[in-house]
Amino acid sequence: MQLDQDLINEIREKNDILDVVSQYVKLEKRGRNYIGLCPFHDEKTPSFSVSVDKQICHCFGCKKGGNVFQFVEQIENVSFIEAVRRLGSNVGVQIEQVQSVAYADDNMKMIEMHELLRDYYHYVLKAIEEAEPALQYLYDRGFTDEIINREKIGYSPNINHFAHDFLEKRGYDKALAYEAGLLSRNEENFSYYDRFRDRIMFPLNNSQGHTVGFSGRTYKNEEPKYLNSPETPVFQKRQILYHLDVARKSIRQQDEVILLEGFMDVIKVTEAGLTNTIATMGTALSKEHVIILKKLAGNITLMFDGDGAGQKATMSIGENLLNEGISTFVVPVKKEMDPDEMIKEMGQEAFRDYVLHNKIAFVSYKLKEMTRQVASNDLVFDQRLKEITNDIAKIKSPVLRKKVLHEASELFKVDFDSLNFEVSKYIPQSAPQFTPGPRIVTYSKPERAERLVLKHFFKDKYLFLKMKDHITAEHFKKQEHQEIYIALTGYYESSDQFNISQFLSYVPVQCQDDIISIDEIAINEDPSVEEIEDYIYVIRHEQEELRNLNQLKQSLSTAIKEGNVTERDRLMTAIIDYNRQKKLK
Ligand SMILES: [Zn+2]
Repeated sequence: MQLDQDLINEIREKNDILDVVSQYVKLEKRGRNYIGLCPFHDEKTPSFSVSVDKQICHCFGCKKGGNVFQFVEQIENVSFIEAVRRLGSNVGVQIEQVQSVAYADDNMKMIEMHELLRDYYHYVLKAIEEAEPALQYLYDRGFTDEIINREKIGYSPNINHFAHDFLEKRGYDKALAYEAGLLSRNEENFSYYDRFRDRIMFPLNNSQGHTVGFSGRTYKNEEPKYLNSPETPVFQKRQILYHLDVARKSIRQQDEVILLEGFMDVIKVTEAGLTNTIATMGTALSKEHVIILKKLAGNITLMFDGDGAGQKATMSIGENLLNEGISTFVVPVKKEMDPDEMIKEMGQEAFRDYVLHNKIAFVSYKLKEMTRQVASNDLVFDQRLKEITNDIAKIKSPVLRKKVLHEASELFKVDFDSLNFEVSKYIPQSAPQFTPGPRIVTYSKPERAERLVLKHFFKDKYLFLKMKDHITAEHFKKQEHQEIYIALTGYYESSDQFNISQFLSYVPVQCQDDIISIDEIAINEDPSVEEIEDYIYVIRHEQEELRNLNQLKQSLSTAIKEGNVTERDRLMTAIIDYNRQKKLK
């Protein structure tokens, strides 16, 4: 499929790189650029930089990034054409859906099977009589047709070979469907049959919006209540955050994630208007989840069920997040209820209002929970005071820290100033602010000349065309510079002005670093032809010397082979002289 270059340019220009990257990375303005934690590798200090002027992004650690298309290709793991299509649809430019002919590997096939089955289960929910009680159950639980369609909720009939036959007819390997968690296997005769039978099917998507698993809920009080997909290569609970694909934009806009206990709650709370809501599959929050969340938002609000298990999870996850330096809040759910039940009881608007007015800092929540414990036990009092002093020091916002300090001084009946003094001892000294950028590198004289020539060529197409006969790709010593030169030749055939964001599409990824740092070089705006010729002379001269040296080395090995001692000594002296001269330069 060939796309029109003008269309590609239009889509690129309409998608601001800051908007697009901001959906995945929490960015902060630093000088002319924006920086954040790299979404492609795990790091503690930000080395991912976005330039609005140039419409590019780049990680100085792992070197990933590029223009807006390359960013989407890498982060969504899609082809160039698919990236263009997605960004096009963001700005109202429609490009046909790319036909998903023959997914390359097994993982993609697993996803394909899930998505085909998801659509089929969804269709069946309203199409067959047998599904009626399941559909009625959903209506009774407050699921509207709109929700059912949006979430593509479905029904798996009570048949052993429903999914089995469906997949077989489409030519899928049954062993792979078993590995994907869609079929089960009889270990006696190795026959396959449906894993999900007579259940309401909730599709589970990965962060890119692909369906990679299911949660099958019983509507007849059978055990287990929820039958989930097993761990598979595409469905890993420690990485999946339910609804992240849907909530991402809202999370970034609000700089807040609301974390719930179950995916059913997420559907209902989203419907009630809180769109920055997600859940883990099971209550544990993994290290991987924390990394994803940290890059996405500065604030996390926990809203777990109002029972003992929910309280326990709030404590342990809140503690974990606090230690990770994330501002954490809690919205306490009413006793023995879950958010879904609260919405049913209060109505959507009152629920939204409740969340808005009952959001307290995690440390405040912890303080409240301690109240009873410390009242009558001095040992616990002493231990808890130490613990809370430590916790308060971890609160990032100074204003919030002060507020919680007041609460603590009241609860423990300790003078505010002395508590404040204790806390200040624990506050970690903030690290010096660091702006990512290319590391300071020193270049040899010829390499410097290569970089300067390229920078002048970036600046001026006509200079490039004029000099083309004097310098060709082979003259450049550095491989990346050769590639850049070749790309430039192609690029200038269709463009008059150098645009770094556009140009990055023409070069291999490993050249990005060089292009970005060459583009940063400050040069003489109006160079004389002699100046450029000087650089070219340095580059070409280096080439010749290198050729001579190689010739010397070759002759030397011939002389050694032939046992010609005089010639050998002469050549060795010549090579040593050459190297010595080189060092003096
Ligand atoms: Zn990186």
